[in-house]
Amino acid sequence: MRIVSTNPATGEILGEFECAALSGVQAAVAQARTAQAAWARTPVRQRLGIVENFQRALHSRKREIAESITREAGKPCAEALSTEVLVALDAAEYCLQNAFALVRPEPVPHASVMMNSKKGYLLREPYGVVGIISPWNYPFSIPATQVLAALVAGNAVVVKASEFTPAVAVQLKRLMDEAGLPQNLFQVVIGDGATGAALISAGVDKLIFTGSVATGKRVAQAAAAKLIPVVLELGGKDPMIVVDDADVDVASSAAVWGAFVNAGQTCLSVERCYVHKTLYEKFLQTCVAKMEKLRVGNGMEDGVDLGPMIHSRQLQVVESHITDAVAQGARLLAGGKRLPQLGENFYQPAVLADVRPAMRIMREETFGPVLPVMSFDSDAEAIPLANDSYFALAASVWTRNRKRGEAMAAQIHAGIVIGNDVVSCYGISKAPHGGR
Ligand code: NAD
Repeated sequence: MRIVSTNPATGEILGEFECAALSGVQAAVAQARTAQAAWARTPVRQRLGIVENFQRALHSRKREIAESITREAGKPCAEALSTEVLVALDAAEYCLQNAFALVRPEPVPHASVMMNSKKGYLLREPYGVVGIISPWNYPFSIPATQVLAALVAGNAVVVKASEFTPAVAVQLKRLMDEAGLPQNLFQVVIGDGATGAALISAGVDKLIFTGSVATGKRVAQAAAAKLIPVVLELGGKDPMIVVDDADVDVASSAAVWGAFVNAGQTCLSVERCYVHKTLYEKFLQTCVAKMEKLRVGNGMEDGVDLGPMIHSRQLQVVESHITDAVAQGARLLAGGKRLPQLGENFYQPAVLADVRPAMRIMREETFGPVLPVMSFDSDAEAIPLANDSYFALAASVWTRNRKRGEAMAAQIHAGIVIGNDVVSCYGISKAPHGGR
């Protein structure tokens, strides 16, 4: 079987890739395991030398890498630079600054009177071969940040890239290899879900999966059957709460950016917006005015703010959520239609008012350029609204009163709560990232 990579903006075929069968995946894992034995003995300083080479090469070729991300994933080139290339550069810097502290043995002080003379150390040892299964929405920064951390800690890595973005994964491998990685230490296998399943069965020692909840459940089951420790980075339905003392101008800009960045195809995007009733109409008008200035088009063109969606199935999900909401009384204030004159995957971003918690658009991950907004009366009402979700990735609270914001944040069920900002935690390698 072959994977055909296409440009979601133009439909142009970018390349064809042979799908790795089970035997190919097993061979990749075996080769990686052989290479890892020597890598585990390689001093951290030497490993970091390769990270530095990678960082330098990525910096000098940033434009070329950003353009190839835009061609395969659709996002505007400036966005590919900031949310993919810069994030990977920051992750490399994080490794350079923190690797020694993270991997060095840690003494275990204790207060046991009986064992008073005993000393112990916690040793950080590599797992062996780390399998990484990635999505298409951040096809460079997600695997790059995970690969860097795993390699620096002394592991070998096998990445199963998304079937929608294989060319970017191949480019990441080329950059890493050119930085001086030992042969076979980092492998990329191309294919769809079956190749991902093959990677889990091929005997990796740890798995990092980023993708949807539905696939995450299958991955967790397959990993459990082999007792492979697994990290699951799954979907989101992030709430944004704007209380009555918030700065409407700043909050509306953040809502528009947070809902429409990467055409809304971001795990941390603003998927539910709750605004205090006293700011509600002004907030909506400001969001619509800002949204209407956005230019949708091919991300390779200067001045384009939103590129295409990845494929028409994703666009259909967005349409079905908007249709369901409008049928139940939501107001579509602006946008929300296909733009066939640009191509089959283009969609005009939408602002929806008067949504209700039971609507699909407030319950399921939409993963598209829609900002659904509803009003609330008090902080006490906003918290349960934000917590009324099956997802709990990130959230944001907007207020000029820090104490009030922190008190609200403490009550929100999410892995990350940001004050007066959205999405930005992903760009800070030192910040934690993960759902609850
Ligand atoms: P997806 O679940 O469809 O696919 C993710 C990866 O899993 C792909 O590489 C796919 O080929 C592979 N896969 C599919 N079936 C598999 C199986 N049975 N065994 C092993 N691998 C399998 O997700 P997607 O559409 O590529 O990405 C979008 C989703 O990812 C959204 O839900 C988004 O919120 C989520 N996401 C989460 C984060 C995070 O950090 N939490 C980041 C980015 C994306």
